[in-house]
Amino acid sequence: MPPTARPRAMVANRLLAALPEKEYQRLLPELEQVKLSFAEVLYKPGTSILYVYFPNDSIVSLLAEVAECSTLEVGLVGNEGMAGISVFMGLNTSRYRALVQGAGTAMRMKASALRTESDRVGSLHRLLRRYAHSLLIQASQSAACNRFHMVDARLARWLLMTHDRLSSDEFRLTQEFISNMLGVRREGVTRAAGDLQRQKLISYSRGGIPVHDREGLEAVSCNCYKIIKAESVTT
Ligand SMILES: [Zn+2]
Repeated sequence: MPPTARPRAMVANRLLAALPEKEYQRLLPELEQVKLSFAEVLYKPGTSILYVYFPNDSIVSLLAEVAECSTLEVGLVGNEGMAGISVFMGLNTSRYRALVQGAGTAMRMKASALRTESDRVGSLHRLLRRYAHSLLIQASQSAACNRFHMVDARLARWLLMTHDRLSSDEFRLTQEFISNMLGVRREGVTRAAGDLQRQKLISYSRGGIPVHDREGLEAVSCNCYKIIKAESVTT
């Protein structure tokens, strides 16, 4: 087996797992497992995309930059998806900043290899076409959510979406990080997280947010969570 190849059982990414065996085997030499570190930047706006990433247990945030230091999350990519969808859409550069929000592994593929595979219009093409639609819904619903819904509900939605993509009940987060994701001032994040903690839905300590009550969190979240989840390709 080439050093980059991974037995199928070790690949947790659900897009890759959904491929027929024959197509998966054909792609295997193009896939390389890499470790992604917390806060690592995979793409910057306007720069060339050299690789696409299929997260296994890592999470990547897609951030729209609205000012020098202001960002807003418009997409969250975990093991249900792929970072670098612009390549599939025929573009070579990223419009978003792609930031690793949860450290872990991903299967990496050269952008050129993805283009070649897409041109075959096989199963990966069909899965990515459907996934591109789900990302579009995620971005548009996030925009509406950020405009109309209260910070508590938005934070609950975001924690649920993150929790869905992680294997752990606890994730490493800072107020500043959440503030950048939700486009909310840090004081707003502190107040909203305090509200969720008082309801015993989460704990909120320096750097970590264990989720204690998922059902309770879903009750606090706006309906945007369910709308986005319903569009997921592989769930
Ligand atoms: Zn909402």
